[in-house]
Amino acid sequence: MPEYIGNGRYKTERKEMVELIRQRGVKDENLLKVIERIPRHLFVTDLFIGRAYEDSPLPIGKSQTISQPYTVAVMTEALEIKKGSKVLEVGTGSGYQAAILAELGVRVFTIERHMELLNASRKVFEKLGYPIVSKCGDGTIGWAEFAPYDGIIVTAAAPEIPQALLDQLADGGKLVIPIGSMEFQDLHVVTRKKDKFLTKEICGFKFVPLIGKMGWQG
Ligand code: SAH
Repeated sequence: MPEYIGNGRYKTERKEMVELIRQRGVKDENLLKVIERIPRHLFVTDLFIGRAYEDSPLPIGKSQTISQPYTVAVMTEALEIKKGSKVLEVGTGSGYQAAILAELGVRVFTIERHMELLNASRKVFEKLGYPIVSKCGDGTIGWAEFAPYDGIIVTAAAPEIPQALLDQLADGGKLVIPIGSMEFQDLHVVTRKKDKFLTKEICGFKFVPLIGKMGWQG
């Protein structure tokens, strides 16, 4: 880990943000520690640096947002991943969620449909030294080349679960994806047990739309 993480700027703000996330019910202390280390201000545009440690989504360009820290925490906790496991993220956006996974010791593969956003997040990955594998494309069809994944996390909302993502899930793996209308969604946490898929729902979220072959039509 680069030494300025954790010792750098905004340490107090980060601590306060993490305390809020803890109070809202996130229990995984290892994850909370990681969130406290990651410099979220490096993932937002200059205009929003002063608001980087508010528990809210912020614009990142191309009509997209960096997810709310609480939402990132809930989704990551729901993945229940172990160090060394392989995770696919659909919707790189700012790269903040991918960085959290990398910091947890996960091998991260991430797909973003906007090249401009991907280029910006790749610069931050490089700066922080994360070996995150990324590509520009339609994540609704997954990334078959590196499948199966121990976890798949989709950070944009879909009308229904894309079949390709279920197919690319390893036995025992989990898919976390917001499903619903364009306005409101519930997080679906799908666990694969051989050829069976068990779903749990966490209610009440709001994401930008997942646009693609197996998502909303853009
Ligand atoms: N995980 C991001 C959240 C970004 S918002 C973060 O931590 O900042 C969701 C992102 O999903 C947007 O950048 C959007 O462009 C992207 N997206 C939407 N549909 C997609 C698709 N089919 N494939 C890949 N990315 C997609």
